[in-house]
Amino acid sequence: MQNTLWQSVLGEIELSVPHATFVTWFKNTELLECSDDAVTIAVPNIFAVRQFQVKFSDQIRQVLAKHGVKPKEIDFVVKTSGKKTSINRETTSSNQQVVDRLTSPKSNSGVPKTGGLNPRYTFSNFIVGSSNDLAYTACQAVAQYPGTKYNPLFLYGGVGLGKTHLAQAVGNEIIKVQPDARVVYISSETFVKEFLESIRFKKKGFSDKYRNVDVLIVDDMQFIANKEKTQEEFFHTFNALHQNNKQIIITSDKPPKSIPTLTERLRSRFEMGMPIDIQMPDFETRCAIIEAKASLSGVELDRETVEYLANNVKTNIRELEGALNQLLAYAEMRGITPDISTAEGLLGNVRRTRPQHITAKQIIDKTAKYFSLSSAEICSAQRDKHIVTPRQIAMYLLRSELRLSFPKIANELGRKDHTTAIHSVEKIEKSIKLDFSVREQVSDIRERLYA
Ligand code: ADP
Ligand code: MG
Repeated sequence: MQNTLWQSVLGEIELSVPHATFVTWFKNTELLECSDDAVTIAVPNIFAVRQFQVKFSDQIRQVLAKHGVKPKEIDFVVKTSGKKTSINRETTSSNQQVVDRLTSPKSNSGVPKTGGLNPRYTFSNFIVGSSNDLAYTACQAVAQYPGTKYNPLFLYGGVGLGKTHLAQAVGNEIIKVQPDARVVYISSETFVKEFLESIRFKKKGFSDKYRNVDVLIVDDMQFIANKEKTQEEFFHTFNALHQNNKQIIITSDKPPKSIPTLTERLRSRFEMGMPIDIQMPDFETRCAIIEAKASLSGVELDRETVEYLANNVKTNIRELEGALNQLLAYAEMRGITPDISTAEGLLGNVRRTRPQHITAKQIIDKTAKYFSLSSAEICSAQRDKHIVTPRQIAMYLLRSELRLSFPKIANELGRKDHTTAIHSVEKIEKSIKLDFSVREQVSDIRERLYA
């Protein structure tokens, strides 16, 4: 009964808030208690509690009232296990599977137990939007069933988009469930360095060091690209782990097929799992990230300032975080409330180094060029398949990058009826989730737009 009520409340809220907001904040919530006195809602983490108290409680109150529920108080609490309380038993048993798998007997003398993990990278403080939901879901699956699903897990994407964060979140989650698991995180640079030292100084034990762990996370694999001997060593490490169903997680700035000078056999190993990309988050997700990070620092930014930051830092999350931190530090030092004019004053530098903004024409031209079409063809009435998909992608980008209204998008492409624009945007949104080639095309064009 409570569950049904909450599902319909969520259904209504989903229609009234941006998709990213819904996915980020509402999706993993649960109604724990519901009476005339109090309604208790479980949310995934501590800053969600704050976010709900400040931003969503009125809205929830209104929707509940429509269903005849008018509590005196609404409480928000953190979910205990990160899973629905009602399936706690299930959680325990799947956790037990992890424990069993990870604690199979082995000799482990001189092997690092865990290393390199930064506890600040967790799933709960990672904001999910359409640019990274696939990666997020895959990482959660790996954390729950290490060594079975997606092995190796290969995450790729541009700088500062959250690869390290997600890869480490997997490690941290596994250790939370099973403190004895041997989870090791290294950058590929460290791997190269240690390997070369072991040769130069004839140090023993290197080859065992990374072959006796339960989970090996190797970050920024691209640095190993032109080091053939190290690749060979890594190839053997990889095989030893993989054969024993140990989880391997690799991150890189490019998919395996685009890393030049990766030996063929290593490339084919990396492609055994499903390489998954992380892209630059769209505007709504950028806003959600800023709000979450500000809220973590105990600051509530007004919407105008949030949107200003999201609009002006479109390169990556690291820079977005940097801009926000700069703003918060500046405001704190001066004892003022951070607002849009302070942000404008500070972000001059950031903006000057970026293209001021992209135009609709640039999006259409770049998309056309990418598909070896002319802009006139994209804007024409032709219905040939090789033109229709690029046209839909152009519409999608006009929406995601410039947030144009549908009539305006139709207009930019020389059309009167805006329903085609709605269908096109929806279609590409769906394809991006299902079809890797479309995903890659969109991200390539986006990269060229901001290059
Ligand atoms: P990469 O390894 O891809 O270069 P990082 O994982 O180091 O990027 O991310 C850069 C910064 O941005 C980190 O501080 C990380 O916590 C933060 N970050 C990236 N993506 C997200 C996200 N979706 N939600 C919250 N923080 C994020
Ligand atoms: Mg990184």
